[in-house]
Amino acid sequence: QPPPRGGRTVTAKDVAQANDYFEHFLNATSLKNILGYYRSICEHLNLKPNHFPLFYPKLKSYLTSWRAKALWKKFDARAVHKCYGKGKLCTSSRVLIIGAGPCGLRTAIEAQLLGAKVVVVEKRDRLSRHNVLHLWPFVIEDLRALGAKKFFGKFCAGAIDHISIRQLQCILLKVVLLLGVEVHTEVSFERLVEPDPIEKTGWKAEFKPSTHPVSQFEFDVVIGADGKRNTLQGFKRKEFRGKLAIAITANFINKRTEAEARVEEISGVAFIFNQKFFKELYEATGIDLENIVYYKDETHYFVMTAKKPSLIEKGVIKQDLADTERLLSLENVNREALMDYAIEAANFSTHYQMPDLEFAVNHYGQPDVAMFDFTSMYAAENASKVLERNGDKLLMILVGDSLLEPFWPTGSGCARGFLSSLDAAWAIRSWCSGTMTPLDVLAERESIYRLLGQTTPDNLNKEWKSYTLEPATRYPNLNKNMVMPLQTVGLFDSDDPK
Ligand code: FAD
Repeated sequence: QPPPRGGRTVTAKDVAQANDYFEHFLNATSLKNILGYYRSICEHLNLKPNHFPLFYPKLKSYLTSWRAKALWKKFDARAVHKCYGKGKLCTSSRVLIIGAGPCGLRTAIEAQLLGAKVVVVEKRDRLSRHNVLHLWPFVIEDLRALGAKKFFGKFCAGAIDHISIRQLQCILLKVVLLLGVEVHTEVSFERLVEPDPIEKTGWKAEFKPSTHPVSQFEFDVVIGADGKRNTLQGFKRKEFRGKLAIAITANFINKRTEAEARVEEISGVAFIFNQKFFKELYEATGIDLENIVYYKDETHYFVMTAKKPSLIEKGVIKQDLADTERLLSLENVNREALMDYAIEAANFSTHYQMPDLEFAVNHYGQPDVAMFDFTSMYAAENASKVLERNGDKLLMILVGDSLLEPFWPTGSGCARGFLSSLDAAWAIRSWCSGTMTPLDVLAERESIYRLLGQTTPDNLNKEWKSYTLEPATRYPNLNKNMVMPLQTVGLFDSDDPK
């Protein structure tokens, strides 16, 4: 019988029940269920999310099914890498991660493996994004190494190289929880709260709801992973403006019939050059597109770039307005016409082989079709900053879409996002090393950031299996001294006159 812990004995019955819940946890596909089963496992085993070396070995000793062991093998193989220093390199660090999107969760995994105390806050109550992401090969390899297939057997099987955002979040969330990260949902980050010299408190944050216990959490690293809106203040952004570009996404229910199974996917790269197809589509339907992608995943997912005149002709856009925000505003879009437009484009491009397309339901209980403008894209001028107040230093780092908004037709979002997550964790490691000054850490982070926007599947190191936190394992042309510490003085905002 396992020994008593924390005043309560974990009985053999508890362990058996926890193992039972673990099977449900592995199969769970909703945020509520994943967190619910996880809580039950922790309650039975008398465990609380904690630093990696204090949590994971205990959990592992109790959960012993073959599925559990297969996962531990994957996690152990990763955790032993020397870059994590046996999970003890950053035990003094406390990391707040804003947003449980793919990149926030990916960053949480690395910070946890470094031994930091990691807390993730996510404002949503559901994982409901059906949209499907094309993944670069290294991302598929990375996720396999984290046990993706153990959670989701169909993960990137055969030639499939895509996954829905919600499924990707499910996988990463489960990894994060099993490693001991603390996750709070329906909690929205509002702003940073400076250290209080009288109360002797460190950096904290204000959240909605304001009374949530996480508002007592003190941290020395904050990661902005809340997507392109980026609520972490203090970062300047550059805008890249192209010609007007309007995208439409549509998700239809995959009923998994034989007829549906026979329909071929459309990879964007191949189709972008197929002018004949677009001409025929226009002649037959009046729909004028620049590109279209179709992936068969949990849903039938279509994403296309539509030309404005055809949207007006087809009655999707009611009035031609110069201001893009107003052009695509709720009042100026006929949703029924938009649904018809998406269905017609989907039907034509799949040769009418799926006659009964039925919209999946989105976060708001509506048919899952959306139209948005991607004329402008944003990138943060800098990836990192340090704030110092009353002697307390805070490292701030952006990752994912908050850092660099992707041009979606290239499918670069998660790939560059994951690279930024690994780079952020490398910066946390440098921050904790005790051998680098804040300016050194900033200079190193900014040097590496200069490479991110140039990355393609071809110019990254092809040895995907050897990727680690160490940036040189991923970027062949790395120069960590491209930005010198003195050039980052503007990124160190301190109230200390020295
Ligand atoms: P997000 O996925 O945006 O996650 C941010 C999270 O933060 C969300 O869960 C949000 O609820 C939460 N949040 C926001 N504010 C707060 C707050 N204040 N407090 C707490 N939580 C908060 N990428 C690819 O790799 N391949 C593709 O094929 C691809 N296709 C795309 C097609 C389209 C049409 C679009 C629009 C994007 C596409 N992308 C693609 C990009 C991809 O979706 C993003 O790069 C990816 O989702 C970014 O992940 P993230 O974690 O940075 O941000």
